[in-house]
Amino acid sequence: MSGHRGVDLGATHDGVPVTAPESGTVSFVGVVVDRPVITIDHGNGLRSSFEPVESSLAVGATVAKGDAIGTLMPGHCGARPCVHWGVRRGEDYVNPLEFVLDLRPSILLPLSRGWPDPGQDDRAG
Ligand SMILES: [Zn+2]
Repeated sequence: MSGHRGVDLGATHDGVPVTAPESGTVSFVGVVVDRPVITIDHGNGLRSSFEPVESSLAVGATVAKGDAIGTLMPGHCGARPCVHWGVRRGEDYVNPLEFVLDLRPSILLPLSRGWPDPGQDDRAG
C-alpha cells in the first residue's frame, strides 16, 4: 500500500454519492488491500483517488465535474463518515486542497489546517 497521503473530507453520512472534483477518465476501479478505490485521470498528469468508494463505473468511463463517481463506504475515519482523497501529479503526491482551491477558488474552504498533517490525518490508522 502507498501509505496515507491526502486529506480526509468529512461527509454527512455513509452512502452519500462522491462527486468528481474535475472532469476526467476513470483509470482504476477496484479493491486495494481491503478498500474500494476509484481513480480519475484528469489529464496533465493529475490523478485523484478516492476511498473507500464503491463505484459501478468502468475503467475508461469519462466523468464530468460534479458527476457522481461512486458511493461512500464506511470505515476510513472510524465512526465518522469521511472520504479519503489523494492527488498525484505523475508519481508525486500533491496537496488535494491546493488542487481544489485551484479549481474552485471561491466555493470550498479547507477542512483541515494543513498538509501534510499526520497527527490530524492518521487517526484512522
Ligand atoms: Zn485518510
